Amino acid sequence: MLITGFEKISLVNFDSEVSATIFLAGCNFRCPFCHNFEFVIFDEDYLEHYTMEEVISYLKKRRGLLSAVVVSGGEPTINSDLEELLSKIKELGYRIKLDTNGLKGEYVISLLERGLVDYIALDIKNSLDMYPKTAGLKSLDTSGLVKLIEFLKSNDYGYEFRTTLIKNYHTKESIEEMAKLLKGGKKLFLQKFEMSDNVPDRTLEEIKKEDALEFKHILESSIMNVSLRGYD
Ligand code: SF4
Repeated sequence: MLITGFEKISLVNFDSEVSATIFLAGCNFRCPFCHNFEFVIFDEDYLEHYTMEEVISYLKKRRGLLSAVVVSGGEPTINSDLEELLSKIKELGYRIKLDTNGLKGEYVISLLERGLVDYIALDIKNSLDMYPKTAGLKSLDTSGLVKLIEFLKSNDYGYEFRTTLIKNYHTKESIEEMAKLLKGGKKLFLQKFEMSDNVPDRTLEEIKKEDALEFKHILESSIMNVSLRGYD
């Protein structure tokens, strides 16, 4: 496990919790709009990194001040020692939010069922037809992702779906397909894309607010609570 980033305190990453955030390197997707691409294709020599012991030692000292930990990336579930990290954080009494792309959906379900994770922020990249392209891959088996979506919809675990809207990938048709995929879901955030130095594809464009509102309207027919994030 390579821990490339450690945000020691935040009030905005996990509901009203005072949380720390751990960023793990590596990912099984290659999203052209990724803001953390330096964590995806990484060079150990150039990334600041921390050991698991350093992170756990900090969390041990901050019990009472912090109430939760966000585990993010990259894609955390590709790390074989993720469970060790989660178990150690849980032993300290923290709530855990996991940011994931859901490709290893069955594994994420097992983490929830074993009480190693309390809340899932699941990226929904696009309709299933558009998934490989939007994730920057030639092909993709989305069966694990679909299982995770269905599991979250039919159980009581805390979760949110979130989608970054990109003009080059999202259309009314793909959003209508997404609405079918997420039907019965509780919460979806539609996030505004913003270009930054880390984004690998410099040709990408954001979706304008009026189109984001139209997409929101389509998705509200299927999902209880749909919000825009990053649009003023
Ligand atoms: S899944 Fe997330 S971390 Fe991985 S490439 Fe896509 S946006 Fe980046």
